[in-house]
Amino acid sequence: MTILPILVAPDPRLKVISEPVVDVTDDIRKLMDDMLETMYDAPGIGLAAVQVGVPKRVIVMDLAREGEDKSPLFLVNPEIVEASGDLSVYEEGCLSLPTYYEDVERPSKATVTYLDYNGERQTIECEGLLATCIQHEMDHLEGVLFVDHISKLKRSIILRKLQKTKRLQKGAA
Ligand code: ZN
Repeated sequence: MTILPILVAPDPRLKVISEPVVDVTDDIRKLMDDMLETMYDAPGIGLAAVQVGVPKRVIVMDLAREGEDKSPLFLVNPEIVEASGDLSVYEEGCLSLPTYYEDVERPSKATVTYLDYNGERQTIECEGLLATCIQHEMDHLEGVLFVDHISKLKRSIILRKLQKTKRLQKGAA
């Protein structure tokens, strides 16, 4: 398995709308394995393929806490078939927006269909952190970041700071 470089915002490649996967092939499984390794290494609880520069509708997640057994979840072509009217707020972070966390409001429950690691169709009912995380990752497939859900002012401050950090890192390299 390979650890892939994660794109950091602002980056136009994070704005790309991801394409559906036609078939869950060995190449897609290799991508999912590499993404999972990359996510564990970061460390993070969710990663969309577009964050490693591959605009395909593929997500990996693992909400297991430290000390718990790993429980990876692979979602190909996920679709929300139902979302609750009631909302909940979570402080979200993102591997593409390192060091920044903000409260985001989303439907507290959702029903999601997807293809699993073996290409089998699955349906899950999610709530709590799982619902938030799935919706956050699915946003990536539409080129949306969690900062797109907060005020324009806060967003521009965060993106400007990240841009500045990138420039400094470039200068130092
Ligand atoms: Zn993210």
